[in-house]
Amino acid sequence: MPKNAQGQIFCLNGINNPQHQMLNSNDSYALTKVMKNQDGTFFFMPDKGIPVKAYVCKECGYTEIYYNLELSPNFGNEG
Ligand SMILES: [Zn+2]
Repeated sequence: MPKNAQGQIFCLNGINNPQHQMLNSNDSYALTKVMKNQDGTFFFMPDKGIPVKAYVCKECGYTEIYYNLELSPNFGNEG
């Protein structure tokens, strides 16, 4: 994510354009794990997934997500 001299974060479509400042709610979200059934349908596993932080540009909808280390510092090392 590009930042200006003041540390404000902008989306890639409007660097230094105030209308394209990225917003972060400081809430956490998740990418939910999904598996495929034998019949080709999918099922979602809301108790498994990756915690993420989201940054959104309200002007153009550009979104970036980052893995949230604060919630799951041992992701991938559980064995
Ligand atoms: Zn934008």
